[in-house]
Amino acid sequence: MQVLITGGAGFIGSHLAEALLQRGDSVSILDNLSTGSYNNIAHLITHPRFSFAIESLNNDLVLDRLASQADAIVHLAAAVGVQLVVERPTETIETNVIGTHTVLAAARRYRCRTLIASTSEVYGKSAEIPFKEENDLLLGPSSHSRWGYAASKLLDEFLGLAAYREYQLPVTIVRFFNTVGPRQTGRYGMVIPRFVQQALRGAPITVFGDGNQSRCFCHVADVIRALTALLDQPALTAGEIYNIGSDEEVTINQLAEQVSRQADSASTVTYIPYNEAYAPGFEDMRRRVPNIDKIRRTVGWSPGHTLTDILTDVLAYERERMIGGQGIARSGE
Ligand code: UDP
Repeated sequence: MQVLITGGAGFIGSHLAEALLQRGDSVSILDNLSTGSYNNIAHLITHPRFSFAIESLNNDLVLDRLASQADAIVHLAAAVGVQLVVERPTETIETNVIGTHTVLAAARRYRCRTLIASTSEVYGKSAEIPFKEENDLLLGPSSHSRWGYAASKLLDEFLGLAAYREYQLPVTIVRFFNTVGPRQTGRYGMVIPRFVQQALRGAPITVFGDGNQSRCFCHVADVIRALTALLDQPALTAGEIYNIGSDEEVTINQLAEQVSRQADSASTVTYIPYNEAYAPGFEDMRRRVPNIDKIRRTVGWSPGHTLTDILTDVLAYERERMIGGQGIARSGE
């Protein structure tokens, strides 16, 4: 199968590219390197079944050519990370909505099997834990930039499902929960690479808010297994939405403690109020836990890595980067 991955030089995209190549597929990547990194795919460029274009989704000519050669498109290109979303809300909304519109138009032209990445952010402040795909969604007010991200990804979901209903395009929506693992950068606010880097440097571990908010962290290798399983089942999964995440819940305080312990670090925790960490009036999600019955039932997927496994892998990755020198650490972000 020939697979086009938009955002393929990013954290999840580059792991997906590797996995697809490994099992014999051909992969092309379209990425403007806004948050992705060439370093993530540099080791793949000599592979005979791999190609890439450093270009924006808005370049219709390039997107059209790549889509015309693809059997499937995995659309991962999107604005990434809460910090960026709060700082650059216009770019976030435009990237997400216009990007998905453009990808779906190209997919329709060549009838590509399409997977669209959405996010657990769309559940917003919903109190029905664990979050189920068919739950009602509860977003905060539009005066808070944060919700623009959720709203734009929700619109992406509507666009994808509309293409399925109106044009029978085999579109599947995946809602990623917190995905972590080697190669994820802490530059856009993601908590695990940040805590691990802080612990290894002996710097204070920065917990935002009171640290009693909770998350479930899923290893990127498990996420890739989920994506390939769904990709392979268009008949079963077209027109459907799937949560992809772990259901092992941990508070950010517990996470800080576990990172410090596994890193054997002398770092202490420092608490930073949300309005200093993000922006005045920032609303965090207190709990975020997926219900993963649907994907388990459909393709037999469940996560295989525990939080301990995840931290072991991220610690090894970050240690290697530190040994490799600061130059590599910076450009690898
Ligand atoms: N967080 C934190 N310290 C940091 C970065 C993040 O306490 O240095 C918190 C953040 O406020 C959130 C959780 O960790 O409650 C997960 O943040 P992340 O940005 O990784 O993902 P989110 O779940 O917000 O999309």
